[in-house]
Amino acid sequence: MTRACTDCAAPITAKSRTGWCRPCSAKHLNSDPAIHARRVAGIHRKFAEDPQFKAEQAARLLVNASTPAAALARVATGKRIAREVLARPDVKALTHSPEARAKRGRTMVNTKLAWCPEEWRDSYRRMLSGGTLAKDAKAMILDTVRVEARREVAARQRAMAEKHARELASRY
Ligand SMILES: [Zn+2]
Repeated sequence: MTRACTDCAAPITAKSRTGWCRPCSAKHLNSDPAIHARRVAGIHRKFAEDPQFKAEQAARLLVNASTPAAALARVATGKRIAREVLARPDVKALTHSPEARAKRGRTMVNTKLAWCPEEWRDSYRRMLSGGTLAKDAKAMILDTVRVEARREVAARQRAMAEKHARELASRY
């Protein structure tokens, strides 16, 4: 007796317990959130137990992601998402909302001012509004930060040297 897949009517063996052909069965398994969660947990467990395996997987991902085919696939995915998702009116309403704009503004500031330590950003803005050229303000802040960092390193080295000297002194 021949049987047919419930989903695509492909012939399946009489032994099939699910009633699906192999591809359809895989599709169902892959779309089950509980099964997906179990798989992810299993992978995380394996990664935690076997750092070398994790490193090998990461290296392989990097290699695979750098092929021309992978780059083309990324472009295609981006285009498809732009067409099918970003162009949707409900998504557009979200991405054009004042909150979304404000968030993008903040992200842009973080990207543009990535060179500037967060605690210096207000000073930077004050310098600009006080008429300092952006490149001069940046140079001044970076200089100050460098001097501070050097001073901190020097202080730490001094502290270590003093500790060492105290230890030497206490030996005799
Ligand atoms: Zn099927």
